[in-house]
Amino acid sequence: MDNKELKKKIRECNRCGFCQDVCPTYRYTKNEAAVARGRVRLARLISEGKYKWGEEDEITEHIKTCLLCRACVVNCPSSVITDEIMMKAREEINFAKGFNLFHKLLYRGFLSHQERLKVAGMLARFYDRSGARWIVRNSGVLNTFRKLKNMENILPMGLKPPLRSQLPEILKQVNKPKFRIGYFAGCATNTFFSDIGKAALLYLQHRGCQVEVPEIQCCGGPHKSAGDMEEAKRLAKENIVTFLKGDYDYIISDCATCGSTLKEYEELFKNDLQMKEKAQQFSEKILDLNKFIADYLPPDEDLKALDKKVTYHDPCHLVRGLEVTAEPRELLKRIPGVEFREMREADWCCGGAGSYCFTQQEMSAKILEGKIDNFIETGAEILATSCPACTMQLSAGLRKKSVKAKVKHPVQLLAESVGLV
Ligand code: SF4
Ligand code: SF4
Repeated sequence: MDNKELKKKIRECNRCGFCQDVCPTYRYTKNEAAVARGRVRLARLISEGKYKWGEEDEITEHIKTCLLCRACVVNCPSSVITDEIMMKAREEINFAKGFNLFHKLLYRGFLSHQERLKVAGMLARFYDRSGARWIVRNSGVLNTFRKLKNMENILPMGLKPPLRSQLPEILKQVNKPKFRIGYFAGCATNTFFSDIGKAALLYLQHRGCQVEVPEIQCCGGPHKSAGDMEEAKRLAKENIVTFLKGDYDYIISDCATCGSTLKEYEELFKNDLQMKEKAQQFSEKILDLNKFIADYLPPDEDLKALDKKVTYHDPCHLVRGLEVTAEPRELLKRIPGVEFREMREADWCCGGAGSYCFTQQEMSAKILEGKIDNFIETGAEILATSCPACTMQLSAGLRKKSVKAKVKHPVQLLAESVGLV
């Protein structure tokens, strides 16, 4: 979006205020500047020259505390694209002030470099499994650094080796495959949630799909959310080239953020004559894992009973990004013995929102608390979801409230039901 387009989009807000009813940050602040109408108004003041980007810390803060959850967008009678306006605003703030330290370290420092991410994953596993975590937690040293303590609490427990290191044992040749799948094993799945990736690959092979897992770059979703379009495009280009070489029937992701970001590559390159066509070919092949299993494969006759009470949390990028909401529920209900219990406000953001849980800890914690209360109300023992970032956030929320329930991707329950894991 260029500045002219931004001004036009900003003016589409008719100030009706319908967004107040659906905005998680407004619910907890009751602050007009923390809802779509107010945030768009702040961006308007700047675009009309009353302030400069990054000049007023308070305005910058309200632009950065938006979850980009799109709840306002899908409920807006004027179809104001608040999330895109906020991303553009963040880009302008970055141009004016430069990237902050967090961005330089996490996004450009680690997520942009898979080899560095691999080292960070090894260190995290060592910390988690060697006893160092126990010592640090019990020493009380983290009590002095509240922000660091909150971040540490979110780090998943019981970390397994990365998915990529397990591929030689998981991947196999499938006889007369129905589909050739290029599996996009995103940063979080590979590093922190290899159990999800493993279950997905085993299950897809079990259903007659030939699966390959090409080396990837980060999908660029975190960079895009932080207004770093230049880096998001660089990463996207590499992924497009890699996956088009594979000539797959479909490119599948178990991660809502990766899936919706990959689908939006087409939009990202709409004004790039060199990449436009390739990005379009690439995006057309993107499918969410739940959708692929539910809509492209016949019902699974091997499913065995799992006596569990299960509910489902809709990741924002899946429900409002890829518009996948019925499919994961459908898959869960197909498993014999599963008692599905719908959760109140299942499609409300959990407060994870990528790195929001690290950068906006207070707001994130309040939103998460509401989500966990809604989960407890269902009486379910499994909280299913389809995004590693949500899995990380929800698991931390359950631990904090000492709730003995597990967060799982629907494909983990399918794989368990047919005895693959
Ligand atoms: S619902 Fe849409 S048009 Fe109405 S105030 Fe909110 S952003 Fe503006
Ligand atoms: S994207 Fe979400 S957090 Fe941001 S203004 Fe809209 S509803 Fe509120």
